Amino acid sequence: MPHLARRVSATVSASGLAVAAVLVGSPAPAEPASQTAVSQRPTVKDPFAVGTGGAISTVDPEASAAGLKVLKAGGNAVDAAVAAAATLGVTEPYSAGIGGGGYFVYYNAESGKVRTLDGRETAPMRMPDDAFIDPATGKPYNFTPELVTSGASVGTPGTLATWDKALANWGTLSLADALAPATKVARRGFRVDETFRQQTLDNEVRFAAFKDTKKLFLPKGDAPAVGTVFRNPDLAETYDLIAQRGTKAFYRGKLARLMSDVVRKPRTTKNTALPVPAGWLTARDLRDYRVRSQKAARTTYRGHDVYGMAPSSSGGTTVGEALNILERYDLSAMTPEQALHHYLEASALAFADRGKYVGDPAYVDVPVKRLLDDTYAAERACSLDPAKAATKPVAAGDVTAYDGVCGPATAEGTTDADTENISTTNLTVADQWGNVVEYTLTIEQTGGSGMVVPGHGFLLNNELTDFSTVYAAGDPNRIQPGKRPRSSMSPTIVLKDGKPFLALGSPGGSTIITTVLQVLVNRIDLGMTIEEAIAAPRAAQRNTASVTAEPAFIAAYGPALTALGHTLVPAGDAFTSAAEIGAATAIELGPRKRMTAVAEPSRRGKGSAKVVDPR
Ligand code: GLU
Repeated sequence: MPHLARRVSATVSASGLAVAAVLVGSPAPAEPASQTAVSQRPTVKDPFAVGTGGAISTVDPEASAAGLKVLKAGGNAVDAAVAAAATLGVTEPYSAGIGGGGYFVYYNAESGKVRTLDGRETAPMRMPDDAFIDPATGKPYNFTPELVTSGASVGTPGTLATWDKALANWGTLSLADALAPATKVARRGFRVDETFRQQTLDNEVRFAAFKDTKKLFLPKGDAPAVGTVFRNPDLAETYDLIAQRGTKAFYRGKLARLMSDVVRKPRTTKNTALPVPAGWLTARDLRDYRVRSQKAARTTYRGHDVYGMAPSSSGGTTVGEALNILERYDLSAMTPEQALHHYLEASALAFADRGKYVGDPAYVDVPVKRLLDDTYAAERACSLDPAKAATKPVAAGDVTAYDGVCGPATAEGTTDADTENISTTNLTVADQWGNVVEYTLTIEQTGGSGMVVPGHGFLLNNELTDFSTVYAAGDPNRIQPGKRPRSSMSPTIVLKDGKPFLALGSPGGSTIITTVLQVLVNRIDLGMTIEEAIAAPRAAQRNTASVTAEPAFIAAYGPALTALGHTLVPAGDAFTSAAEIGAATAIELGPRKRMTAVAEPSRRGKGSAKVVDPR
């Protein structure tokens, strides 16, 4: 396939000025995926940058560099976000890529409005209600290994369509130009770090189960070594193909048929012991996929306007409801332990409602307005005892009848089975005109379904594991053909006096919600700077008997919170080696156009923040 030539595209910027964005195509010939000891740039991770003229924060220096280059060439925040996301598809292939989905939140400086795109994966039309019941036993499949590593959990990917729509709506670059920096990284390679190697090792058995995955990610029978260069020429070719032919190269024709084929007949290695159930994705599902444009979920919090993602994500309503509950208390006047107690309790209450009410609004009537109503929050706050942790799970509220007046205690609650995982990636961008993007994208589990599309260099998602496993009639998140599984992704943009103040988001499955909530509380209520707010140790209360917490959180607040009735258990699960919660990125916008870009100072191998004109 011919490679992209150097292109100069005359584009019109968000401010209406004509700019010339010069993006370099990919000169190098295709090479096999390989590791060599060549040093490549850029590898320095700096999680903090202050300046003007544009800013970007991601988990990865290559992705941040790609976005920064676009900003410097006169591209806007949307252009940079797509360029960075496409690069994350190369350097964070286990967390995100064109085989997955995500949610894109955009503040338009010209209109002063926040817009969102729902690029969530959908259930194939042939997926049966009982898809997660093993026909051989009549019992639900185990989450691990059956569902996690399977065709059965592969949803119709939405990421490429999201990039295309974001650019068409608000960008200045063509899709081809926005993909060019990522294509270059895929072809020349990037330096393997500890995180990449460890994530590969965490997935070794799954990856070894598929011929194509093994070839790409376990090239010499082992995870790529730290410090070597990892190339993905197949992905470069795929991006080239899309650059030439547009999204139809993915959603129609040969590649669409290949994806369907792989999902319906997983190409496993002979000697794998993994069961790998087949799925239902068809070329027609791909052809019919549509990104949804929709209104943000909005609430106010202590003089701020908080815009989050509306369903199919539960992020906006759950963060928003918890904030509304917390707004009833003066957290800034409390000790940190008291404030954190309120944070944990409000989170549990909001999670109870998330489980009862939130699903894909195309299939379920989600009471977004009521969940974000201050009177409703007042009534929910009746169940928050400032001196004692409630017994979990707490019951969901009644959105059909509330007056904000405390009545007798409600019934016992149920815990929503949490099948979400802790992969995913997030990025934040602001440009010189004041446009802001917050974008969370994922292939669900670290490593997705484990299945690489043969010859194309990307992994397919296992997002459908976010559906409830067992079919129950009243469950808003039960499997239905064509439906989007409920997400926790919470890309959030906060305005103050009508202007962007803070944009933030994180990976982390259902702890995404608690991470975003906790960072907001840290920043707005507890007097922390944004970098302190992100660095601070985290804990997550998702309406479960115990609170999941980072070891540093337990060390700092464990005794005081235990005395209030909380049970804290260290974070970490069967899939990851790290006892961490989230990997946030944020940009704070201050006076005189100052931008503070922040990423994690240590979690997930630390992130990369950059500004156009550093101070
Ligand atoms: N699938 C999860 C969600 O949509 C995200 C996965 C993760 O962050 O690990 O909420």
